[in-house]
Amino acid sequence: MIEGGCLCGAVRYQAQVAPLVSRLCYCRACQYIAAGNATVNAVFPSAAITFMGEMREFIRTADSGNIMHRSFCPVCGTHICSRGEALPEFVIVRVGTLDDPNIIQPSAAIWTSSAPRWACIDPALEHVAQQPSPLKKST
Ligand SMILES: [Zn+2]
Ligand SMILES: [Zn+2]
Repeated sequence: MIEGGCLCGAVRYQAQVAPLVSRLCYCRACQYIAAGNATVNAVFPSAAITFMGEMREFIRTADSGNIMHRSFCPVCGTHICSRGEALPEFVIVRVGTLDDPNIIQPSAAIWTSSAPRWACIDPALEHVAQQPSPLKKST
């Protein structure tokens, strides 16, 4: 069981399976959420994760063209997760909200073409200039 939640504890979640993939995202929207740098994200199957507590959503079309629902705690403002309307099978969880962020290992940095010049991107990661090909719906 993987658990996490927001900074104030009003929102909690439990995942029954390990994440499918973990990536850093340097898209311009993520820079707002992550205070200037990339967000770090772990992708879970939506069916395997349960959220408890009230979240608010910010809905906006992403640079990829996907309509993204970004969910955050209305009390402390911590961004918890996002979902794309085109791929509701997956939920993208912000890694900072994991009780133990060490359980994941990012494999790629995406939207590196939007990264600030001073960004320090690990050369050991796969670098993807924009949107990576979507995860298979069957996984
Ligand atoms: Zn909170
Ligand atoms: Zn992003």
